[in-house]
This record gives sequence, C-alpha cells and structure tokens, in this order.
Amino acid sequence: MHALYDIIIIGGGPAGLTAALYACRARMKTVLIEKMLPGGQILIADTIENYPGFPEGIKGPDLAEWMFKQTSRFGLELKSAAAISIDKKVNKKDNFKVHLENSEAIEARSLIVSTGASWNALNVPGEKKLTGRGVSYCATCDGPLFKGKEVVVIGGGDTALGDALFLTKFAHRVTVIHRRGQFRATKILQERAFDNKKIEFRLNAVAVEIKGSDRVEAVEIKDVGTGKISDIKADAVFVLVGMTPNSDIIKGIVKLDEKGYILTDDDMRTSAEGIFACGDVRKKLLRQIITATGDGATAAFSAEHYVEEIKDS
Ligand code: NAP
Repeated sequence: MHALYDIIIIGGGPAGLTAALYACRARMKTVLIEKMLPGGQILIADTIENYPGFPEGIKGPDLAEWMFKQTSRFGLELKSAAAISIDKKVNKKDNFKVHLENSEAIEARSLIVSTGASWNALNVPGEKKLTGRGVSYCATCDGPLFKGKEVVVIGGGDTALGDALFLTKFAHRVTVIHRRGQFRATKILQERAFDNKKIEFRLNAVAVEIKGSDRVEAVEIKDVGTGKISDIKADAVFVLVGMTPNSDIIKGIVKLDEKGYILTDDDMRTSAEGIFACGDVRKKLLRQIITATGDGATAAFSAEHYVEEIKDS
C-alpha cells in the first residue's frame, strides 16, 4: 500500500521550501519533490541584499542551505527526482497522482506547484554552439573563469545588472548590451553599474550573432536606431534576458496566462480545486525571494485548509 500524502510540493526553491515549512509545522504529511538540490535559483545567487534579516547580505547557497535545514527540522520528506506528469482529480475525494521520472507515482490530497522559472536563451547564431565555450547563463557559476578577460552581458533587468557588477570582480571589462535606452533593473543596481568604471554600455543595441570558431571571440551587434553593425571583442557572453515559467507539467490542468505563468487568486488557489501555486511560476507583479516565501506560506495555509475540509467531509 502506497503512502498517501496530505500535500505534495513540486519544486524546492524558496517558495516550495517555505510551503514545506508551514505544511510540516501544520502537521500535514508532506513530501517535497525536487530534481536538483533544494534552493532553486538562489543556489546560483552571489550576495542577496534584499532579503530582510541579514544586514550585510547573505550568500545565496547559504540561504538555500539554511532554509532547507530549517524545514527539515519539522519532518519534511524529500524526493530527489523530476516530476513528469500529474493525474488530476475527477471527484473531490479522489487523490492527485504525481508520476516521477524513476517510474514511481505518489499520491496526495492536494498539490502545491512551485516549479519556478528557467533562463531564456537569446536564440541567435553561435549561441548554442558556444554554450560552455564562453556563452553562459550563470555569472556566479562561470564568472570566476574570466579573470582579466573581456566579458559581455546581454540584458537590462536585475539579473543582467546585478551580474554585471558581480563580474567586475574578475573581468577586465564588462560591456552591457541592452536593446533599449532604459533599464528595467532596480534603481540602486543601475546607480552602481553607472558608477562602476569597469562597466561600459551599448544601449539600443541587439546581439545578432555570437562569433567564435572554438570559443567565443566577439559579439556582433546591431544599433537599433541606425541599423549599423559592429563587433565587440569578447571572451565570454552572459545571456541574462529573463525567464520562462516551468509550467509544462501543469498545462491543461490549471489556467495559465499567455506567457505560461499560473493564474492564482490571493490565497494561491489555481483554477483547479486542490492545486495551489506559489513563487516565480505564478503570475504576479514582483518575483523576489521575499515574495516567493510569502506565497509559499499562503499556499501551505490554503492547502492545509483544503485538506482538513476533505478529511471532515
Ligand atoms: P527580466 O526582469 O524579465 O529582464 C529581462 C531583460 O532582458 C529585460 O531588460 C529585457 O529587455 C531583456 N530581454 C528580454 N528578451 C530579450 C531579447 N530577446 N533580446 C535582448 N534583450 C532581451 O529578467 P531578470 O533580470 O532575469 O529578472 C527575472 C526576475 O527575477 C525579475 O522579477 C527580477 O526582479 C528578479 N530578480 C531579482 C533580483 C534581485 O532582487 N536582486 C536579482 C535577479 C532577478 P526589456 O527591458 O527591453 O524588456
């Protein structure tokens, strides 16, 4: 006889770990499914300055480890595997079934989806071929490899400017290429980037090709206004152009917006009864650790009430 869980949480970033903390403390029988290490995107964050309680900031991997340790204290069960599909409920009293890549299937009365989002590719010639040969999507992972080198960052959000600043610790020069004249990044990051003598900007420019025979050698850019084409010499290119929600597993089961983000109400309920969503995978205004943890707590609270209702009926 298989174990029946009260709550299955899919995805172990800050949202999923907080949902797990609240669910376990509510004495819900809970399992967290995570295909990699618990922590999600913060595992590759350098210093996090905007999560309260750490006056000097905190390293992403440290915060991930502490969040996981804190949750584990309350009896969380972790399954290190990828969830590949979900059988939805027909009747309220039925259970959800989540199929894992290792052919295991686990059942629960409710589901919390906290699968986050993944980095976008630029989809220009040379990008795929040179990935791992100078093209990277993770400054924290690969930045230290480019000590004294010419580095290009593509993008204009928090990730692009935050990582450009981080990369100045190693690189000789960091050139930020952005397709518009204004950045979408938080003002304090913009101020720091503009003040940093190692950072140069190519605004209103798009990368049309990443060049190099065996390793990255240059980025070909096009000026959006004039159409002029030029090359920027580069040893590395960090592509930091936003994210796509990891919502494939739940497509067709709950309502998504046009970009694939899960639609929820304020209590993290999705359009399907018994399924809740939290963190970066859901449609919302601000995607930060602090909003992910808040979502996670609310999702667990809502799931707990849903499970109690079923048990009482
Ligand atoms: P983002 O905010 O969506 O920004 C993506 C950037 O890439 C935008 O500037 C966008 O340009 C540009 N872009 C998108 N597609 C492009 C393309 N095909 N070619 C060229 N440029 C392209 O993504 P993000 O910076 O990765 O941030 C994701 C979320 O995480 C955000 O909510 C962000 O606030 C959060 N985050 C927070 C922190 C922090 O608080 N320290 C750190 C990292 C990330 P346009 O501006 O023209 O659209």
